[in-house]
Amino acid sequence: MTIKPLIILPDPVLRQKSRPFEGIDAQALKLAGDMLDTMYHAPGIGLAAIQVGVAARLLVLDVAPKEASPDPRIFFNPEILWRSDERSVYDEGCLSIPEYYAEVERPKRIGLRYVDEHGVCMEMEADGLLATCLQHEMDHLDGILFIDHISKLKRDMVIKKFKKRAKGMQESAAVL
Ligand SMILES: [Zn+2]
Repeated sequence: MTIKPLIILPDPVLRQKSRPFEGIDAQALKLAGDMLDTMYHAPGIGLAAIQVGVAARLLVLDVAPKEASPDPRIFFNPEILWRSDERSVYDEGCLSIPEYYAEVERPKRIGLRYVDEHGVCMEMEADGLLATCLQHEMDHLDGILFIDHISKLKRDMVIKKFKKRAKGMQESAAVL
């Protein structure tokens, strides 16, 4: 079990575009396992590889209700095939933007193609929280954050707050 350190706003790494996998090898599976450990430990319901500093098109999630048994899911090279016109709104948060939440509107349903942990190309349809979570994590693979979907005024406020926080952490580190 390996808990990896999370990349936090405003780290520019979060804005990198991730590269696709050419094959699913032991190293890719180890990364996915470490990401699930990191996500459960945080705790969170989704995590993209770039959030642990790896610019690779991989995301993990578990949107099972708290009382249900865990349902870890791994998606390599996910691609959206279609989006519904119908939209839904969720209060979103992000492990890279701790303790900040905002309502984001996204397509309610999506069609998805991805490669699973056995290296098999799969297609699926997602709805509700799963669809929102997949879209949030897939945005990360292109360097997009959920705050990019809110008003510029709100976004600028959040970025300013996290810049201050990062600066404060650097200063306290220097004292030590
Ligand atoms: Zn996120």
